Amino acid sequence: MDAAEFRKRGKEMVDYVADYLEKIEKRQVFPDVEPGYLRPLIAQCAPQDPESFEDVFKDIEKIIMPGVTHWHSPYFFAYFPAASSFPALLADMLCGGIGCVGFSWAASPACTELETVMLDWLGKMVNLPEEFLAGKDGKGGGVIQGSASEATLIALLAARTKTIRQVQSEKPELTEAEIMGRLVAYASDQFCATLGTTPCCSFDKLLELGPICNKENIWMHIDAAYAGSAFICPEFRHLLNGVEFADSFNFNPHKWLLVNFDCSAMWVKKRSDLIGAFKLEPLYLQHHHQESGLVTDYRHWQIPLGRRFRSLKLWFVLRMYGVKGLQEHIRKHIRLSHQFEHLVLQDERFEICAKVVLGLVCFRLKGSNELNEALLKSINGAKKIHLVPCHLREKFVLRFAICSRTVESTHIEFAWQHISQLATDLLKTWVQNHHQQ
Ligand SMILES: *Cc1c(COP(=O)(O)O)cnc(C)c1O
Repeated sequence: MDAAEFRKRGKEMVDYVADYLEKIEKRQVFPDVEPGYLRPLIAQCAPQDPESFEDVFKDIEKIIMPGVTHWHSPYFFAYFPAASSFPALLADMLCGGIGCVGFSWAASPACTELETVMLDWLGKMVNLPEEFLAGKDGKGGGVIQGSASEATLIALLAARTKTIRQVQSEKPELTEAEIMGRLVAYASDQFCATLGTTPCCSFDKLLELGPICNKENIWMHIDAAYAGSAFICPEFRHLLNGVEFADSFNFNPHKWLLVNFDCSAMWVKKRSDLIGAFKLEPLYLQHHHQESGLVTDYRHWQIPLGRRFRSLKLWFVLRMYGVKGLQEHIRKHIRLSHQFEHLVLQDERFEICAKVVLGLVCFRLKGSNELNEALLKSINGAKKIHLVPCHLREKFVLRFAICSRTVESTHIEFAWQHISQLATDLLKTWVQNHHQQ
């Protein structure tokens, strides 16, 4: 493919994606395929001779789409949202076009500098304490990781190294291995300090945890993967109070801030803690400058060496939506979750299982776990909407997460009527079976 054909095909692909997203509502949200569906549809080996773009393109609808779960369908209410927007898609195209690998400042200065500035923008949007920002000569700063799980691992490794060095300076007779064997990490069954847990979007009390961590010299990492985006709205910012006690903080714009996967934003108060843990400096990667808010070598802030120009997505989205546009998006989702909550509360057969704070509603039929498992099975079997469950204490609970950028009040009404009808059908047979037993 030469540049002339790329121009033509690129436009076709943009049209295809625009059509896909514009008409996604018409597709069944969850596919009909069985495990192993794809292999028989595809050649056993890569082709020896090149194929045409048309050959590949026509297989998208034939082979790929039948096996796609449509995360951006307004009937998708599973997991948590996967962010997507047109500005982010365009930025990702540019990222692919530039195709740099920005592991150090010199490897592509714009890639590094835009990321530092975007993480400062984002940090200011959620009103993070100044110490987390890079500025021109700050000790802190932000970095884009691939996922919240990576951010947690990075925090853990940095905390470990920092603690080992600290103990070594006090007790030089101990070896690293001896110290390592005595380290303790404190966690709940959700792992670290969390704002917006995955099962039910509950919030740890940072104002209680934070002072203890600081007093005991324990690294505090806060995972706000989903909920973090809501903190750009002043009315939800109080949920982040206590972040001033943390050493590191993370949330995923790729969940709820309209920036396509992957974009997990992580901040630290002391960049030296990360660099101390990860710095590797072979000769071919050495440049003569000092780490500061101006010059950052992001390879010391992450596990991989290579990294994409992901901050372009943030830059496009933050500029083209503006803070106000993004706040509107968050507020709309939260309005819709409360709409669903009210519908559930009006039906005496159901109960709400956790406080609805943001865009997630946990609910169930009053009754046994088996009954609720059967309800979920019938909902997901009908494939008109898609949900996933969770366990809250011993209870089997259905999670209804507001996900799609384009979901509206009418979709919520439809989803509720559908669930309610399936519950009616289920309860009829359930009662009959129960009587027969
Ligand atoms: C979604 C989620 C994660 C995982 O996010 P990844 O970016 O996929 O690793 C971690 N923690 C919480 C609280 C989440 O909601």
